[in-house]
Amino acid sequence: MAQCPGKDMRNLTVSYHPCPNCHQPVEMFSDEARVRCQNCGTKVYKEQAPNCLQWCSAARECFGPKLYDQLMDRISGKEKPEPS
Ligand SMILES: [Zn+2]
Repeated sequence: MAQCPGKDMRNLTVSYHPCPNCHQPVEMFSDEARVRCQNCGTKVYKEQAPNCLQWCSAARECFGPKLYDQLMDRISGKEKPEPS
């Protein structure tokens, strides 16, 4: 099975992204594309979808079809609401 080089667990880094709703910094690992704000529950995305999504042939398997579609929608600017 193809391995995405962007998902190497040895190179995990942590970054902080401000929640768009409550502006609390949200901790996000480098293999995560989005996390839920622990303060208010808003979904916080990375500034951009990972670059490898657009060129890596294994991206769909790597992220999973659901997240892949969400990220691609986000890239193209037509994110659809997610049932919770
Ligand atoms: Zn928040």
